[in-house]
Amino acid sequence: RLNLLNDMRRALESVPCIKPLCTYVDPHFRWQDQPLLPEFELHYQPQISLADGRITGFEVLTRWHHPERGTIPPVEFIPLAEESNMIIPLGIWVLVEACRTASHWPAGWRLAVNISASQFSHGSLVPVVKRALQLSGLAPTRLELEITESLLIQDAHSTRQILGELRTLGVRVALDDFGTGYCSLAYLRSFPLDQLKIDRSFVTALQQDASARAIVSGIIQLANALDLETVAEGIESPQEAAMLRDTGCRLGQGYLYAAPVPGHALDEFCRRYQQQP
Ligand code: C2E
Ligand code: MG
Ligand code: MG
Ligand code: MG
Repeated sequence: RLNLLNDMRRALESVPCIKPLCTYVDPHFRWQDQPLLPEFELHYQPQISLADGRITGFEVLTRWHHPERGTIPPVEFIPLAEESNMIIPLGIWVLVEACRTASHWPAGWRLAVNISASQFSHGSLVPVVKRALQLSGLAPTRLELEITESLLIQDAHSTRQILGELRTLGVRVALDDFGTGYCSLAYLRSFPLDQLKIDRSFVTALQQDASARAIVSGIIQLANALDLETVAEGIESPQEAAMLRDTGCRLGQGYLYAAPVPGHALDEFCRRYQQQP
């Protein structure tokens, strides 16, 4: 664990441009200075309209290719990055790099970026988001930040304020892994949110478990009533997709459509996906 932490520090700090970038994306930063983090790679997983199977956007998911240990999954390195505050430089890099990639997509496609609680409480998030949009030219309405329920509970006051600032910018906010936390419905209403992402555990249980079906249908009705868009995570079968669509869920994400695609293979993926019958 300690070694992994040191390795992460090395991977981030060996890159000369990461420091200037982290002074909240310094005003003298140019694209030519774009730091490459050779060990980190962005993958993109499509979000699909359940009604017609079309791509509506992508969620960016970070991968760490460790020189000796191979690929380390985010469930391992994101918590380390959060504890050590290295999530700040890493998160800035993810935002800047992903916005740049998304700025080349068709104008209807959105980009979703996961944001850790510590990025939210750091104070740099709003200026960093502004700068990433400005550098890339991506329209703010095409950027969606994914947060979790715990953030709404732990630090409600400052979270509400930052969400308000993001809304003013035009950036969208999604609640990730919804249903696994402890947010009451009444409480949800008091935050400016745009989307609920139904946690994969409910989607997985849909076919076997009547209570999962009831929960999912309740979440979708609630979301519709609060004017929130719904996305189901972790769809792996056509049956799950059909059930979710028939329950009124708008978007889906999961291995049925595609696993996260490495950035360098994205153009090819989109070409092939759109040629499917
Ligand atoms: P998440 O945001 O809930 O992302 C969805 C996770 O489910 C991803 O795992 C994705 O690969 C996986 N997934 C998607 N479809 C399916 C499916 O059909 N079946 C199964 N079994 N899994 C599916 P991944 O990429 O390992 O990421 C795990 C978590 O790490 C993410 O959960 C997110 O919370 C976090 N994470 C990843 N990248 C970043 C990042 O750049 N910044 C931050 N702060 N967190 C990140
Ligand atoms: Mg997510
Ligand atoms: Mg999730
Ligand atoms: Mg998550």
